[in-house]
Amino acid sequence: MKIDILTLFPDMFVPLTESIIGRAIEKNIVNINTINIRDFSVDKHKKVDDYPYGGGAGMVMTPQPIYSAMEHIHAQGKRVIYMSPKGKTFNQKIAMNLSKEENLIFLCGHYEGIDQRVIDTWVTDEISIGDYVLTGGELPTMVMIDTICRLLPGVLGQEESYMDESFYNGLLEYPQYTRPSVFLDVKVPDILLSGNHKKIAEWRMLESFKMTKRNRPDLFEKYIQEKNLSKEEKHFINMILGNKVDF
Ligand code: SAM
Repeated sequence: MKIDILTLFPDMFVPLTESIIGRAIEKNIVNINTINIRDFSVDKHKKVDDYPYGGGAGMVMTPQPIYSAMEHIHAQGKRVIYMSPKGKTFNQKIAMNLSKEENLIFLCGHYEGIDQRVIDTWVTDEISIGDYVLTGGELPTMVMIDTICRLLPGVLGQEESYMDESFYNGLLEYPQYTRPSVFLDVKVPDILLSGNHKKIAEWRMLESFKMTKRNRPDLFEKYIQEKNLSKEEKHFINMILGNKVDF
């Protein structure tokens, strides 16, 4: 996958060269290219922002440098994602969908945001990472790139598969434990040491339901309304709904 990032602060993307995404870049699974919007400004002082029409606080990013940068990277017809608190909220389903593209373009806003004409002309997806306002689109872009890239074939090792993880099937993941089996007098649940894979799978399913009901009742409700539940799932859900399970 090729990822182009239009930003005023290309140096902010250094963290993407670390860890799992860094390895994906080394293995050529993903190619990340930052484009400095300021380089495309025709203003003699390389200005990229101006006062908002109609008045009000702050500055707005002007359209010209962004238009020129978009033309330079041949953005026409590609998925162009504008990071914006006004966008649709990012989630695993959107990440899955975007992970199938060959080329993604991210546009990072700053100040009060960007001139609406840029959005109307170039942007295919306006996406928020949550209901709060950051100073710029660089951190949200990194959040999205990290989430999308770990879904690309070959990025995670088999042992790090995302298929058991939170949100993959609409639920939160069960609790995880590792060695030692007793730490500060607290023991790992016996079932995980039993070697009985069927029982472990059942325990994980129940814990995943409990965790989801406790932390994300919205997801729990959606799951039981919309999914075609197996007999086993129905059994655990009835136990939870009938308060026959400790939380
Ligand atoms: N005036 C804008 C508003 O009220 O919607 C906020 C602009 S914000 C200070 C500057 C830039 O940060 C935005 O253009 C966007 O690129 C980015 N940004 C801020 N919060 C974001 C969020 N929750 N999700 C995605 N991008 C965000």
